[in-house]
Amino acid sequence: MDENQERQHQKKKIIIRIIGSILLALGVVCAIIGFADMAKSFQEERMPKIWLFFIGFPSIAIGGFMLIVSFQRSIQRYVKNESVPVFNEMGQQIAPGISSIANSVKTGIEETICAACGTPNDKDAQFCKSCGKALKVVCPDCGQANEADAKFCNKCGKTLNN
Ligand SMILES: [Zn+2]
Ligand SMILES: [Zn+2]
Repeated sequence: MDENQERQHQKKKIIIRIIGSILLALGVVCAIIGFADMAKSFQEERMPKIWLFFIGFPSIAIGGFMLIVSFQRSIQRYVKNESVPVFNEMGQQIAPGISSIANSVKTGIEETICAACGTPNDKDAQFCKSCGKALKVVCPDCGQANEADAKFCNKCGKTLNN
C-alpha cells in the first residue's frame, strides 16, 4: 500500500468514525426521547412515538458497528504493523546492553584496576582515569612496568620506591 492510498484509507476511516459517532449519538438521543415519550404516553394514555425507536435502535446498531469496524481495523493494523517496530526497538535497546556487557567481560580480563579507587582502567593505562593515580610503577633499573602497589620489580627484583 503506497502513501497516497494509505492517506485515503486513513481519511475514509476518520469519516466512518465521524458518521458512526453521529449515528450512535443520534440513536442514543432518539432512544432516550423514545423512552421518555413512552413513559409520558402511559400517563397521558396515548400512543407512544414508536418511530423514535425505529430510528434510534438501528442508528445505534449501525453507528456502533461502524465504530467497531473502524477501530478493529486499526487494532489489527496496530498488532500487525506496530508490533514489529516495537520488537525492533527492543532489540536496539537490548543489543548495546549485551555488547557493552560482552565488552566489559572481554576487557575485564585485560584491565588494570586502580589500587587507590578501584576503577577499572585499560590494561595499557599508566594513570587512573578516575583519580589520576599512577597505575604502573616503572622500575628505574630495568624499565619494567609493575603494578602500582608492587614493592619489588617483578623482573629484576629491585626495590620500587612507592
Ligand atoms: Zn584511581
Ligand atoms: Zn626492574
